[in-house]
Amino acid sequence: MPTRSEAIAQYPEIGQLIGGQFEVGNGRSEADVLDPTTGEALGQYPIATEEDISRSLKAAEEGFHIWRKTSAFERAKVLRKVADTMRVRKEDLARLVVLELGKPWKEALAEVEQAAGMWEWAAEEGRRAYGRIIPSREQDGRQLVLREPIGPIAAFGSWNAPLITPSRKMAGAMGAGCSIIMKASEEVPNCALAIGKIAYECGLPEGVLSILVGDAVMISERLLDSPITQGVTFTGSTRVGKLLSERAVRQMKRPIMELGGHAPVLVFDDVDVEATAKAAATAKFRNSGQVCISPTRFFVQRGVYEDFTQALAEAADRLVLGCGFEDATTMGPLIDSRRVNAISELVEDARERGLRIPAGGKAAQREGYFYEPTVIADATTDAKVSNIEPFGPIAVTSPFDSYEDAIILANRLPVALASYVHSENVHTVNRAIDDIQAGNVICNAWRVSLPETPFGGHKDSGFASEGGIEGLQAFQNVKYAYMR
Ligand code: NAD
Repeated sequence: MPTRSEAIAQYPEIGQLIGGQFEVGNGRSEADVLDPTTGEALGQYPIATEEDISRSLKAAEEGFHIWRKTSAFERAKVLRKVADTMRVRKEDLARLVVLELGKPWKEALAEVEQAAGMWEWAAEEGRRAYGRIIPSREQDGRQLVLREPIGPIAAFGSWNAPLITPSRKMAGAMGAGCSIIMKASEEVPNCALAIGKIAYECGLPEGVLSILVGDAVMISERLLDSPITQGVTFTGSTRVGKLLSERAVRQMKRPIMELGGHAPVLVFDDVDVEATAKAAATAKFRNSGQVCISPTRFFVQRGVYEDFTQALAEAADRLVLGCGFEDATTMGPLIDSRRVNAISELVEDARERGLRIPAGGKAAQREGYFYEPTVIADATTDAKVSNIEPFGPIAVTSPFDSYEDAIILANRLPVALASYVHSENVHTVNRAIDDIQAGNVICNAWRVSLPETPFGGHKDSGFASEGGIEGLQAFQNVKYAYMR
């Protein structure tokens, strides 16, 4: 693991990657990228101009014509090479993740591996864009169903998974045969750019990928309003997802939306309470809780409620806040002061309502954007934290009596992304898979969203999937052909 100062000394200059050309500042106006561990500027990013956006659109149009005519077999070679190169350079990529996002080194290395896996999966699965032949009503007729890439894609992602989110979008679109223009997240731009540069080193034809950094609203409006783009993939809040979907649908462009959650966890009284609470804390406070699938609303059967809450609070207290480049650190900072303020507001509301706070409950007294891992107990459904996704280090516990009550609580909100069930009783687990309204129901485990499994939300959490076969199909049209 590098030291923090070694990492800062190697932080690359930020620029625009337009159809394969990397272009730094050159007089464009600039804004700071902040280091969440200290609050100081790590570097400056140039803000993409109208001309940059136009050139990336032209590149995507030309790149699409080349890429769709490149055989799936050849496309796979490029994508697989990206995965291999990411693994070879895992330390370089992890260094950027720790600097820009602040998560601990080991978590950053795990993110590199998962992101590389997305490229590998898209490489393999792109070769299996199978159609089918439907027997014809006529003796010599052939009815064919084909899958083809929908066209140039506009992509936007949040900052919390700085390698995984761009990889899902880029690899998914390219594996399906599309070109893509990605707006990098302003908070973590060098992570996406590093992958983009690797893709071109690995033989990606010019134009297939562009990465812009700059004004989110301006870039999204220009990209979506251009007749060149045919789809938009977005990871972020439900609020922005709705704005982008409306704009896309008005122009008959396909929206692929991975939006917010507020994951419920049902803990029944037949589990090993201590072990479940300990594992729950690890899952909850990973990435400082800044994860859309983060387990947050813990509904615990009354008989084990106190023990579970206490064990969860103790596990939260054991976490060590600090710089991601230090061995002892088990939880890093939040991304910025905006998130610290949002978390503080939820905790203050809980405090005003007289809810118990058995762990954390305040910002850490140190530089940067740190907030203590927090447990709020006896949460009522009217508390803000029971309704607003914290997207930060807060776990909320409340008791339930019956299975039916637990399901009502789990399904109470309009978001429906991840959910978790912990019970030794297979019948309970089996029923819950049917009864919980969510894109993902994870039982006696915490793992969601692997390269090979589809990941997406229901209701206000969005539509279409990333990952799995579905992750490529999202970027493909179905074409029917008949011949005789
Ligand atoms: P956000 O919606 O504020 O921003 C996400 C991205 O959208 C950023 O790149 C931002 O620059 C861009 N953006 C912001 N306003 C825009 C606009 N008007 N037009 C176009 N682009 C715009 O979300 P955030 O605060 O960065 O991320 C947190 C949210 O993302 C949480 O709700 C979280 O649950 C969700 N999220 C969902 C998933 C998922 O896969 N379902 C994954 C991670 C995060």
